[in-house]
Amino acid sequence: MAEEQSKGQKLAEELLRKPKNLGEFDPELLGKASEFCEGYKRFLCNKTEREVVDYSIPILKEHGYTEFEMGRKYGPGDKFYYNNRGKALIMVTVGKRPVADGLRFGVSHIDSPRLDFKPNPLFEDTEMAYFKTHYYGGIKKYQWTTIPLSLHGVVKKCDGTSVKVCIGEDEGDPLFCITDLLPHLARAQMEKPASKVVEGEQLNILIGCWPFADEKVSEKVKLNVMAMLNEKYGITESDFLSAELCAVPAYKPHDYGLDRSMIGAYGQDDSVCAYASFMAELDAKDPEFTTMTVFADKEETGSDGNTGMASLFLKDFIEDFVSAYGLCARHVLMKSICLSADVNAAVDPAFGEAFERNNCSFLNRGPVVSKYTGSGGKYSTNDASAETMGFLRSILEEANVPWQVGELGKVDNGGGGTIAAMISVHNLDTVDIGVPVLSMHAPLEITSKSDVYLLYKAVLAFYMSGKAKE
Ligand code: MN
Ligand code: MN
Repeated sequence: MAEEQSKGQKLAEELLRKPKNLGEFDPELLGKASEFCEGYKRFLCNKTEREVVDYSIPILKEHGYTEFEMGRKYGPGDKFYYNNRGKALIMVTVGKRPVADGLRFGVSHIDSPRLDFKPNPLFEDTEMAYFKTHYYGGIKKYQWTTIPLSLHGVVKKCDGTSVKVCIGEDEGDPLFCITDLLPHLARAQMEKPASKVVEGEQLNILIGCWPFADEKVSEKVKLNVMAMLNEKYGITESDFLSAELCAVPAYKPHDYGLDRSMIGAYGQDDSVCAYASFMAELDAKDPEFTTMTVFADKEETGSDGNTGMASLFLKDFIEDFVSAYGLCARHVLMKSICLSADVNAAVDPAFGEAFERNNCSFLNRGPVVSKYTGSGGKYSTNDASAETMGFLRSILEEANVPWQVGELGKVDNGGGGTIAAMISVHNLDTVDIGVPVLSMHAPLEITSKSDVYLLYKAVLAFYMSGKAKE
């Protein structure tokens, strides 16, 4: 027989919040989450925004989505998508209630930190050939040396054709890397601050050391690799001028830990939220409110450009969609609500001093809802209102989805923003939700499978809820 609870124990249970590990909440969860994450691992094999869009569209078509038609008045249950330049994607399921009642948004980003090629990347030094890169997004540069890299992207040729490039992902493909100095000679290097241990202009990708056998040419190694690229892709060195190529970690997404409770992979920021909201979008059957799932580009560099969330493309698309009903986008947006789905930093005991444990997120405690992000005195952030937090909270509690709050580390340690600030510009109630990540922005990021699965459950509950905003 269980011991009777004391008065204080009873009161504590009633009045105090005690966060729980998901394993205590539901011991069966890891099995369900692992099954869900098999699809997530396949999704993670798409390592650039273009690859994510290319991968997602055929799946949308299988699920009955068609390409958006301007001027068409869509009815309940209709599903369609809008592809912005192959780099951003909007997916819609029309709800049973009139579009005038507002939409349910789930917005994530599908670009991740990486090494972009410079426009004139190819050079030879010391009889070795290299590609020069310009890093994209916030990275610790020293993390990108001595790891296997693969090359991805597209080259637009002068004749109007384009070639897709992907080397280093298939079994048997060659791999690439950036070299580092041996410790024996690194006395001076090791004295430098971490930001200078490896500098931007040292992020050169080694691509070959075998010369083209001809006495009469100089830069024989460079010529030899260019000849190989020409044979495989029909490109010349000038074609790099109109290309978007990059290097990313070559390793495949994998189960991590003896208990296989985690996923280790490149690009989980923010493919984890993209995948969870993608699955919720596909599984939202006959929702009350119209759902709009958005994959945005350029988040890692500030969302500028016409495929990023600082652009008007989302607003313009909404205008095109709702004008068929004789509605104005701004009137629909003020009645809508948006989940800005992006990762947050999980407390890492190895760097415990960076976190404030009452308000930071933990691995395996469920999706993390962030009232605000930003830095310093709450600069550059959407700060979700008590009403918006309360609205989401009531949906999650009703659907019995465990969740946690999260602030990005200690107040004065730094900070960072999400696209929530750009979305709320449209007078749209917005709140951040995501998955806690260890080693965020590193070439290998760690998430808990159960958090990934419960983010999907959270977004699905949000999409399926018939609860109207006050
Ligand atoms: Mn992100
Ligand atoms: Mn990021």
